[in-house]
Amino acid sequence: MNKLKQNITNIKGIGEETANALNEMGIYTIEQLIEYFPYRYEDYRLRDMNEIKHGERITIEGKVHSEPSLTFYGKKKSRLQFRIFVNHLLIKVVFFNQPYLKKQFSIGDVVTITGKWDQHRQTITGSILKTGQIGHQQELRPIYSVKGNVTVKGIARLIALALNQFGELILEILPEEMISSYKLMSRKDAVKNFHIPKSREHLKHARRRMVYEEFLLFQLKMQAMRKFEREHRGGNIHTFSEETINQFISSLPFPLTNAQTRVVQEILDDMASPYRMNRLLQGDVGSGKTVVAAIALFATIKAGNQGALMVPTEILAEQHALSLMDLLASHGLNVALLTSSVKGKKRKDLLKQLQDGVIDVIVGTHALIQDEVNFNKLGLVITDEQHRFGVEQRRILREKGESPDVLFMTATPIPRTLAITVFGDMDVSVIDEMPAGRKLVKTYWVNHTMLERILAFILKEINKGHQAYVICPLIEESEKLDVQNAIDVYTMLVQFFSSKIKIGLMHGRLSSGEKEEVMKKFSENDYQILVSTTVVEVGVNVPNATVMVIYDAERFGLSQLHQLRGRVGRGNDQSYCILIADPKTDVGKERMTIMTETNDGFELSQKDLELRGPGDFFGKKQSGLPEFKIADMVHDFKTLEVARNDAARLISSSSFWQDEQYRLLRSYLNETGVLNGEKLD
Ligand code: ADP
Ligand code: MG
Repeated sequence: MNKLKQNITNIKGIGEETANALNEMGIYTIEQLIEYFPYRYEDYRLRDMNEIKHGERITIEGKVHSEPSLTFYGKKKSRLQFRIFVNHLLIKVVFFNQPYLKKQFSIGDVVTITGKWDQHRQTITGSILKTGQIGHQQELRPIYSVKGNVTVKGIARLIALALNQFGELILEILPEEMISSYKLMSRKDAVKNFHIPKSREHLKHARRRMVYEEFLLFQLKMQAMRKFEREHRGGNIHTFSEETINQFISSLPFPLTNAQTRVVQEILDDMASPYRMNRLLQGDVGSGKTVVAAIALFATIKAGNQGALMVPTEILAEQHALSLMDLLASHGLNVALLTSSVKGKKRKDLLKQLQDGVIDVIVGTHALIQDEVNFNKLGLVITDEQHRFGVEQRRILREKGESPDVLFMTATPIPRTLAITVFGDMDVSVIDEMPAGRKLVKTYWVNHTMLERILAFILKEINKGHQAYVICPLIEESEKLDVQNAIDVYTMLVQFFSSKIKIGLMHGRLSSGEKEEVMKKFSENDYQILVSTTVVEVGVNVPNATVMVIYDAERFGLSQLHQLRGRVGRGNDQSYCILIADPKTDVGKERMTIMTETNDGFELSQKDLELRGPGDFFGKKQSGLPEFKIADMVHDFKTLEVARNDAARLISSSSFWQDEQYRLLRSYLNETGVLNGEKLD
């Protein structure tokens, strides 16, 4: 039995009370305790006086030059003050409320002081004083996040106890070949150095090793899952004739782009194989994913199955249903729409038709995969815009129905970094080419003072017969405020424009029937302007709209702005996106500038990731992002790629599943449960 898996009470010096406090922090085993890593280090290196800045927390060493003077004031307050020489500079030292320090030194002593530097007064306000030369070990002090009764110092002490008693038992999990070819520190040394760094250099090496390990384990898990899904979960073998598919493709109103042709082939190959398809289709807004979906649905039907298309909102469901009817109905296929507004007898009939196999393709929201919905023979599930789902949610979806093939579509170009972490368990197809002749949306960044000119511009476009969207400020976490903003902007616009111009208002508080009504009026040009919250973000298609105005654009993520911008430029006329923003920070300004400079969704998403970090990328809720203890997906990206390639090589090699040197990696996979209970060893 691995001793490190034992309860922390087995550590001498940790009693029940301490154990309980650690339990509160999620620490139960010895291993969990020694792998409870600091999130940062305080730097006690001696600093050069020439380099320090006002307000910095610094550690300096100097020789005491003047007798300390101690002043008491108030009840318990005191001030201890003296001067020290640091190199040839005479600076003032102040300690508040630590009168007992007075007797710790006298003139001529060498002292080390940590505190806050005041450049103007040439004073350091000390918090820690040491007499004599500073030791090596204390240069970097680990800071842990703690809870309840546990203090930072306390947990550092407990970890040191654990390391003393059990540190030697830390096993190497990485195979020798990797340790030596990447010159990695051993696991034991890395763990120790994380808590008690011998030096900055040691810490760097320790981190390098743990980052690699973390990524490798993660990638092994993802790829093992993928291998397992492919090989152990039989999918449908779709049998369709290539000729029928090609006929369907040539009946389309336009030739496919090369990229579309390529991804269609990738998808059809998966469908024809005995594996279950688990594929992500990425393509920028307007790159033509719908038609790719239609071809895949057509193929599943020709193979004797039914297909389902799942989308996040009802508006989108309706639009997709219409597009698919356009494309499929003329080939004698039966496309139906199921939303919450289909009720009563109509709903009952529809569900029966679905069960009897009369309906070939059903389009709807999430409700589609719930209990009451039964298919005759579901062969393919396509979801659109479901990138917010994590690995687990995707697995649940795949487990519904009798192993249908699954295709996930997303218009949020996912930076490679995230794609290989979040979607490492999937195959990925990318449409990286736009249909010919598409005009780029011209993007401008303006500030709020230019509102009247913007409104005049909107009017000009409306007079040409076009339409405009006005997107309202986004208040994170408060739908109520979002709605209020939309109402305010709506009221302002109604006052500004004459009654000849009709304006619609759309927000999340409307019922789905009301939303539908507003959307319908806008798409039929009964409304020339649509004021909206971000509910129009995904998928909405009104080709006659040529202006997209976004209020407080700095509040939105780049990818989100790009999605909103994608609502225009869908017809033949030049379209415009106007970002109203007064960003306060340099990053904010940079983001606005980037929007005006590129229309490339992938470039934007990569920038977004760099500027805002992975947590913000998909939005806070339901990000589905894996949490790494030490590694950082953005900064350690190179290591991530290396680890991914290594994992792929290992998983597909037979020695990985047999050799002794990989035994610990295999048992890691067993423990994670990704192999669905199939034990390896
Ligand atoms: P998205 O990828 O954003 O879902 P859509 O599928 O809605 O894009 O396609 C956007 C528009 O481009 C639609 O009007 C569609 O008919 C058109 N389209 C798709 N593929 C092509 C193509 N190969 N050539 C010309 N137009 C195309
Ligand atoms: Mg789409």
